[in-house]
Amino acid sequence: LVKGPVSLRELFGWTFNMVKMQLSKKNIQWRHELPQKDIYVWGDRDKLQQMLLNLVLNAIKAMEETGGTLEIKAIEETDFALLSIKDHGPGIPEELIDRIFDPFFTTRPDGTGLGLPLVLQIVQMHEGSIEVDPGPGAEFKIQLPLYREGG
Ligand code: ADP
Repeated sequence: LVKGPVSLRELFGWTFNMVKMQLSKKNIQWRHELPQKDIYVWGDRDKLQQMLLNLVLNAIKAMEETGGTLEIKAIEETDFALLSIKDHGPGIPEELIDRIFDPFFTTRPDGTGLGLPLVLQIVQMHEGSIEVDPGPGAEFKIQLPLYREGG
């Protein structure tokens, strides 16, 4: 784990670049929202890229049939950054919500069930936390520690 200051503007931009072909093919709009002044979290950039990409790929799969808007945003709170990844798919059935972070749990014919366990692991190695709003239109909310100059 190599931690340093990670720009959320760059993280969002990198993720968008990874998926933009898929978005246009699937008729999905990308909207991202950040404050004028960039937010820096304290973390491992590669891991955070993996984390966000996994959540974004899940959101895209949820809207594959319908299209719609994928919204990602971040705000800075006093002690942490708050990220939100929200889709406009069918959401997560209430009876499944307790299992989606279990390794190998999947409802997709070609799924591995390893995406969300990895997301959770990465959040935990950053001493962050994750919350799910099952929707319809699933939303994943993640708290990550802020980088502060001078510690
Ligand atoms: P996989 O994508 O291989 O199925 P994940 O661990 O990423 O594995 O996700 C586990 C399950 O959680 C999915 O199969 C799906 O049922 C549910 N899930 C994850 N993200 C979403 C989402 N954005 N909308 C609806 N369901 C979701």
